[in-house]
Amino acid sequence: MNIFSVRLGINNAYLVCGQSGCVLVDAGNAGRERKFQGCIDKIGIKPEDIKLIVVTHVHYDHVGSLRAIKQICGCPVAVHGAESSLLQNGEVTPPPGTNAIAAGISRIGGYLSRRFAFAPVKPDILLAGEFSLEPFGLSGSIIHTPGHTIGSCSVLLPGGEALVGDLAFNYLPLGLGPVYPPFAWDVPELLRSWQKIIDSGATVIYPGHGPPFPAHRLKRALNRALKIKAEDKKHC
Ligand SMILES: [Zn+2]
Ligand SMILES: [Zn+2]
Repeated sequence: MNIFSVRLGINNAYLVCGQSGCVLVDAGNAGRERKFQGCIDKIGIKPEDIKLIVVTHVHYDHVGSLRAIKQICGCPVAVHGAESSLLQNGEVTPPPGTNAIAAGISRIGGYLSRRFAFAPVKPDILLAGEFSLEPFGLSGSIIHTPGHTIGSCSVLLPGGEALVGDLAFNYLPLGLGPVYPPFAWDVPELLRSWQKIIDSGATVIYPGHGPPFPAHRLKRALNRALKIKAEDKKHC
């Protein structure tokens, strides 16, 4: 199984190729379909080799080129049911910031949400529980990992790779930045989803922004967050 990072704007899309098919995870910013075509030509796969597009969550930087790429590949699109209407309406609702700067951006983002609109797409598969990728030529599954958004999903592969969208970040070089996302719809949910990823036996995290990193960094960040939460409870 091969995982190719396909940079489509500010976001990493990932193309995962098994023996009998490929699955694309996310579709980048708007207007990146030519870049996508160039990438698959370079990798040496045909559009029809891509059997499914998985949307980790409906944010403009993950679904911007989705409609155009879906047309190129002619394959189904899977998204969590909780974000299906956002995808069909081309809407973005910026989640609250988890730090002061991001909180400001989130507020402005609310006013600018039309600027972040994208071409609507009617999804073919609405995800709810665990979803197997076997029928699409790949060992692995999609699980619901809410927190960054209500319908965020992750792809788990048998080699321990977890493709998590914006559930975790790695945007500073040399692993110096936090893995904590700057935006989160629900922080306790986010921490539960981190736990779910760790419990799945993941060894390498493939984030939507930045290069892959070892899962022990996520575990360390989770332990730190839970410790702060426990300390908080001691002070009323
Ligand atoms: Zn993103
Ligand atoms: Zn996002």
